[in-house]
Amino acid sequence: MPGIAERGSFFLQKLLHLIYPRACIHCNLPLAEGRSNLPFCPGCWGTLRLQTGPHCPICATPFSSPSALLHSPDHHCGECREHPPAFSRAITPYAYEGVLADAIQRFKYQKQTSLADPLARLWVETLTTAPFDRVTAIPLHPARLRTREFNQSLLLAQKIARLIRVPLLIDGLSRSRDTLPQVGLSRKEREQNVRRAFYLSNPIPIREKRILLVDDVYTTGATLREGAKTLLKGGAKEVIVAAIARMI
Ligand SMILES: [Zn+2]
Ligand SMILES: [Zn+2]
Repeated sequence: MPGIAERGSFFLQKLLHLIYPRACIHCNLPLAEGRSNLPFCPGCWGTLRLQTGPHCPICATPFSSPSALLHSPDHHCGECREHPPAFSRAITPYAYEGVLADAIQRFKYQKQTSLADPLARLWVETLTTAPFDRVTAIPLHPARLRTREFNQSLLLAQKIARLIRVPLLIDGLSRSRDTLPQVGLSRKEREQNVRRAFYLSNPIPIREKRILLVDDVYTTGATLREGAKTLLKGGAKEVIVAAIARMI
């Protein structure tokens, strides 16, 4: 039997949810309307690590030395200098850890699709300009789509497209084969693993367009590199890649 205090706080929370229907997506604390559009309460929000430090202007890899960009603002990371990616920029604002990693995992593996909108809002919140003509997503292989039932990247792309008012391309890229998880593979193995993993079933809608290519998490960047390469080969003018969070 719950104690009076426990029942009291339960009812208090129920009452607060009636007054403030939005709740923190991590701890379920009611969120005051109008404070902001953020889906986390101030306590949970405070634990998020926004990538504001010096980073590679192309792939956004954080630099370990804070002075890396001081003398040459165009300083690119070693990977981008040796193997320039097809995309012109990566926008991956948060570190993949703590409450955010938890929310992304619940969204992706526990099918909590209602988290797509708040996660997309978190990403859009960090955007200053939106010079994109179309938004599209990294596709799932049909076999994986059957087991997961939805493509998490496409759902995020759909929400982002609506928030920034840019048309969504549902089938910008298609998957020609499934790939192994990229973690633990060498750079060369990662590249081979995703090589020719995508194709364009219809290149017309991407021609001469600036495309925002969305994935949920930026892990090694190999999948987004290959996706961007396929879009550029098909005639896209520029590809910018996006992920809600980044493995650091
Ligand atoms: Zn919270
Ligand atoms: Zn880089």
